[in-house]
Amino acid sequence: MKALVKRKPEQGIWMEEVPVPEVGPNEVLIKLEKTAICGTDLHIYKWDEWSQRTIKPGLTIGHEFVGRVVEVGPGVTGYKIGDRVSAEGHIVCGHCRNCRAGRQHLCPNTVGIGVNRNGAFAEYMTMPASNLWPIPDQIPSELAAFFDPYGNAAHCALEFDLIGEDVLITGAGPIGIIAAGIAKHVGARNVVVTDVNDYRLKLAADMGATRVVNVANQSLKDVMKDLHMEGFDVGLEMSGNPRAFNDMLDCMYHGGKIALLGILPKGAGIDWDKVIFKGLTMQGIYGRRMYETWYKMTQMVLTGFPLQKVLTHQIHIDDFQKGFDLMDAGKCGKVVCSWS
Ligand code: NAD
Ligand code: ZN
Repeated sequence: MKALVKRKPEQGIWMEEVPVPEVGPNEVLIKLEKTAICGTDLHIYKWDEWSQRTIKPGLTIGHEFVGRVVEVGPGVTGYKIGDRVSAEGHIVCGHCRNCRAGRQHLCPNTVGIGVNRNGAFAEYMTMPASNLWPIPDQIPSELAAFFDPYGNAAHCALEFDLIGEDVLITGAGPIGIIAAGIAKHVGARNVVVTDVNDYRLKLAADMGATRVVNVANQSLKDVMKDLHMEGFDVGLEMSGNPRAFNDMLDCMYHGGKIALLGILPKGAGIDWDKVIFKGLTMQGIYGRRMYETWYKMTQMVLTGFPLQKVLTHQIHIDDFQKGFDLMDAGKCGKVVCSWS
């Protein structure tokens, strides 16, 4: 079968012929319909410092997908051949304290598909049946393909009560754009989104953000004045940029709450006075809640949440290079690749 493999320890990704994986007990074999490109895939493509530390060459990448079950391993119940599924890409151990307490998103033994084991940029992949998420017929495959980052956005945005609150989102990557939509969907008052990329800020505005701010040439403080605001009640940090995080700390209202999703560089400094004297609450966010986040995002789409607004490019997998180039240039929302 064909798969996108990180073969060499250098920039690039290579389409190779690899064996179809064998299905083990409690697993299913999935024939991929669509795989979406994540920022993480771009990091691996570019072979940055994190990838060099984390990725073993020879890995099939990819973790955002939808496909159909084509083989069912021994012990699997609840799924049959032909079912259309996506899946939680974090495979947890099932026996640590957090797993046993129903807090699987906090399992310290998490293994990520497309990072620590072969992933979804392939014609076929195996998944533990317990990780599968069945996709209702009403949800098109091109949207189901990126439930993984939609789940990051939903997990982060729903961490704190947003009803009537003023929300600041730093970073209008695909996740920040979706989070802006969710914040409005659940009843936030003002949703302000910052970035340095006008193309992406426009997508955030289309998603329903009250105001978008290009911090390269506009002042967030001016926008707050315009909106008659003293500070933000909730912050969603979705850029991984230390400057953006410091802007956020500066603009939070006293007693505000921050959910941190963006991955900051090691040693990124912040002004701790802002945290302490404003009495801020900060919560790290990793992955998605299993499976409450999946439930909520499915129901939001089924009741009209316009997830399709972040989908800007659908390409054939043979054009994968074009997809990675688009991601690198930041001239896209979600890019979804089709296997047929
Ligand atoms: P992305 O890289 O596409 O988006 C980040 C955005 O931040 C970009 O559009 C960039 O232009 C913008 N940005 C850069 N400097 C900025 C500044 N000074 N102010 C405001 N915005 C600025 O990433 P994404 O796929 O949308 O993911 C968002 C973040 O979340 C990334 O850091 C990613 O690594 C991280 N992430 C975390 C988890 C988790 O489980 N914690 C999961 C997925 C992604
Ligand atoms: Zn565990």
